[in-house]
Amino acid sequence: MNDPRIPMQEDPEWISLYSKRDAIHPRAVHGRFQQLRDVTVWATLGGYLLLPWLQWPDGDGGWRQAVLFDLPGRQFHIFGVTFWPQDFILLSWLLISLAFALFLVTVLAGRVYCGYVCPQTTWTRFFTWIEKITEGDRHARIRLDKSPWHRKKILRRGSKHILWWMLASLTGITFVGYFTPIGDLLLRAFTWELGQWEIIWIAFFTGATYVNAGWLREQVCIYMCPYARFQSVMFDRNTLIVSYDTERGEPRKRGRRKEEESGIGDCIDCELCVQVCPTGIDIREGLQYECIGCAACVDACDAVMKQVDLPVGLIRYTTENALQGRPTDWFRPRLLSYGAMLLIMVSVLGYALATRVPLGIDVMRDRGQLYRTASDGMIENSYQLVVMNRSQQTRDIRLSLQAADGLHWQHGEQQIQLPAGATRTLPITLAYDPYTDQVSTGPVWFILEDQHNVRYRLRRESRFIAPAH
Ligand code: SF4
Ligand code: SF4
Repeated sequence: MNDPRIPMQEDPEWISLYSKRDAIHPRAVHGRFQQLRDVTVWATLGGYLLLPWLQWPDGDGGWRQAVLFDLPGRQFHIFGVTFWPQDFILLSWLLISLAFALFLVTVLAGRVYCGYVCPQTTWTRFFTWIEKITEGDRHARIRLDKSPWHRKKILRRGSKHILWWMLASLTGITFVGYFTPIGDLLLRAFTWELGQWEIIWIAFFTGATYVNAGWLREQVCIYMCPYARFQSVMFDRNTLIVSYDTERGEPRKRGRRKEEESGIGDCIDCELCVQVCPTGIDIREGLQYECIGCAACVDACDAVMKQVDLPVGLIRYTTENALQGRPTDWFRPRLLSYGAMLLIMVSVLGYALATRVPLGIDVMRDRGQLYRTASDGMIENSYQLVVMNRSQQTRDIRLSLQAADGLHWQHGEQQIQLPAGATRTLPITLAYDPYTDQVSTGPVWFILEDQHNVRYRLRRESRFIAPAH
């Protein structure tokens, strides 16, 4: 029943808050920044696809994949360095250093990462390129969108989606190739012998690439990318951004300026800068968070300016200070502090990698009993030693003991040959004769060293427990 105190509209008009997205068909543009982008996106895609095929000496005279994140083997091979779970801190340090490098670039040059090397930008550019080959230029694509389904449309759309799926599948299988040797992976893919998880991850990355680069495109940058959201706080008045020179361009007037005309700006309102924009914005309305800094509008406007005999640079990379006639301050505290932080982090990482000992030793004392008396009267303590060779070559290692006089181990000093990446568990018993020696409870040290390199030496402490005298 209606509450009479609440006025009801007789014929309510429903307002939908949902608005269908109009597909953006950016117009092709040529220019110096787009040439540079061609280089960077080809390098990004080529690097991604080819890197798993790069081989690296494994230290034992053989070769293995240069970049391989071997999850079952718990080893990450990155060129000549192998990271183990114990090196997680180094990997985290590496990632934090990369994040600082990104912050530094953002403070300096705004969204240059987004425009030139971001995977979303790169794959979208290739997907758009496929679209242009199969469906034609911007106007042909808009016409095709509006036209009813007919044989030509089915053929063009069909071939576009087949090519999109092919590139997406290549992306998906390459991604898994970073986690399992790629040659073997491809071989098993052709013989239908892939594992369940391999199939799931290939399918996931294929689907994600197809949807993100084919369908979502600029929406990933605008609505989903967390970096796009927080990077604006790193901008300041000295950050390089793509900007329209309002002072010079306004008031705009459509069409070529006549000689006798005065008091109008340089913008001829051709809207080419809007048509080439992959996010569909009008840079003349000021800096917007949708702008990915790709400079397509810069190249488009420069071409227009040349045609109408006006100086280029109406839209350009500049800073807010420069636009307002103030000098740009390149050496500002924020930039210097990011630079200093990056330098420190890279130096610490370099030092840690250079001085890293590629051996490992864990000592576990038998917690079941403090000590035991053997049948021959000896007092014994048991340990389990796990020794590791974290390098990429076979190593001759020596295991020795440093302990109180009278304490000895059954096997004495051990010489072990450990293959690359191998781990060996050694049960060790330390003992003394209570009738001839006086040994008290105290520390013992197990020493692991490379027989051919004195720099590689590890010392682990444990305890020997003796009965009270
Ligand atoms: S391309 Fe240049 S001239 Fe054309 S509308 Fe954009 S700013 Fe104006
Ligand atoms: S406004 Fe210009 S720089 Fe920004 S995304 Fe659009 S075309 Fe690229």
